[in-house]
Amino acid sequence: MRDLERAEQERRRVLKLLGSSALLMPLAGLGACSGEKPPAPAAEAPPEPAPEPMPAPEPSEPAVAQQAAAQADLVPLTEDNEQAAALGYVQDATRADAAKYPQYTAGQACTNCVLYQGGDAPSGACSIFPGKAVKATGWCSVYTAKG
Ligand code: SF4
Repeated sequence: MRDLERAEQERRRVLKLLGSSALLMPLAGLGACSGEKPPAPAAEAPPEPAPEPMPAPEPSEPAVAQQAAAQADLVPLTEDNEQAAALGYVQDATRADAAKYPQYTAGQACTNCVLYQGGDAPSGACSIFPGKAVKATGWCSVYTAKG
């Protein structure tokens, strides 16, 4: 009987302690105890579609004008130019000396050489011949195919 009294006293003490601390329980926790469903997590947004590739920028009018002016200052490179002759430059790639320059293959020309700066123009600058305009149809032994 004495054990029953002690157990009852302990139960009351615990209930008293729980009663005061229950006021401090967070409301969210109470919601969970009441059987309410917790709020659903926000649905994930569907993945963004891949961005459209940007078109290559058109050269601005001033840039085109600058290029044209730079081209106008160039002196046409002739085959009898000392440096041109030393490098086997010809204005028509099909006349390249294949015996002397076995690296030449049909289709190679300044227009598809990485060093040609004339774009689609019939002649343009080449970093091998500063100040000179080489023919787009030309070729020399320094030819390096574009990427
Ligand atoms: Fe033509 Fe290229 Fe030779 Fe310049 S380096 S002359 S662009 S083949």
